[in-house]
Amino acid sequence: MIVYNLACEHKHPFEGWFASPIDFENQRDRGLVECPVCGSKTVERQLHAPRINVGGVGGSRERASEQARQEIEVAKGADKTGEFVSSDDYKKLVSAVQTFAKNVRENTEYVGEKFADEARAMHYGDKPHRGIRGRADAQTASELRDEGIEFQSLPFPIDFPNAH
Ligand SMILES: [Zn+2]
Repeated sequence: MIVYNLACEHKHPFEGWFASPIDFENQRDRGLVECPVCGSKTVERQLHAPRINVGGVGGSRERASEQARQEIEVAKGADKTGEFVSSDDYKKLVSAVQTFAKNVRENTEYVGEKFADEARAMHYGDKPHRGIRGRADAQTASELRDEGIEFQSLPFPIDFPNAH
């Protein structure tokens, strides 16, 4: 027995089992091969097996790996001069960073460009001490340090743009 992948004139695919190629042609010519979907007897062999399961799975896997490979290439190109971390505990690191940012936001008041003014006011006793965060240029930051005011640079942005 041989299996043929067949299709009717409406492209309904189906399989037919025949003893030989001659047997297929004989049966078809006598109108014995019929589309199970629409009953059409105009039936042709398909050149390529549909292989819906095997072909579909393999194909999508190949596409997925190709896409992943391209994304890696793009990442390599975009981050040539970036800094990287390699860690099995990357998720823990991300979580720690997020917790850090959250704690800073919750325990400090955002004062924006007034950071130097507010820091000095607290330092010189004009205002009670409280946690603040804000912005200052390098020159101002240097002056604050010279005045003995303690503060830290944030290692990464804590506030989203336009959040205030
Ligand atoms: Zn059909």
